[in-house]
Amino acid sequence: MRRLTLPGYPDTFVLTERPTGHHDDDDYEPLPGGLTLDDAVLVASREVQPGDLIVAYFSGRAENGRRLADHVVGPFPAAPHTLRDCPCKGCKECTEVRTWTLADPARVADVSSRYLCLLPADDDGPCVHAYPNEPVAVIHAATVAAAAEEDQADEQPLRKYHVVWAADFEASSPEEAAQLAYEQLKSYATDALPPVLEIRDTDGQTVVLDLMA
Ligand SMILES: [Zn+2]
Ligand SMILES: [Zn+2]
Repeated sequence: MRRLTLPGYPDTFVLTERPTGHHDDDDYEPLPGGLTLDDAVLVASREVQPGDLIVAYFSGRAENGRRLADHVVGPFPAAPHTLRDCPCKGCKECTEVRTWTLADPARVADVSSRYLCLLPADDDGPCVHAYPNEPVAVIHAATVAAAAEEDQADEQPLRKYHVVWAADFEASSPEEAAQLAYEQLKSYATDALPPVLEIRDTDGQTVVLDLMA
């Protein structure tokens, strides 16, 4: 559980553990790429950027200054836009807004300042509308992309690599040079900079890696 705050908001937003699997009649999808709620940040809905993964809303009512997370069953990458720019032609959410504006034509001008749409309707459901100042928990698009990349790297099949370490030593005998080399190798574990290494794969391709670079 994490307690999040946002400048300008008096409440504490409590990001509870994310439910896993079947819970309260819903099948909660795991976060992609090994991401966890520790990767989430709190932002106002109007600050949500394209590709930010929406993971939780928060209950509208504060209790003792705390607003509890309302976890998104299927976290989705946002595609935020104004209601005016929404390609949706009348999902349940949009119909509700239209009904609200029809009740008072003066409201039409208000719609885009009162609502924004985080994701247009698709086969999975209606548009996701939000109040612009409503805080949501998101995992930034860059964090999601980095995790996906790492995930992909993890899936690489194992291969054999030949790693060569070489260094020059001034010594009066092979034994002394070997001893100096051994001391140098041990020092990498503690205080020395990692060595530049030459790595050759089974196809004979060689890369030289400086872990400090
Ligand atoms: Zn819609
Ligand atoms: Zn939309």
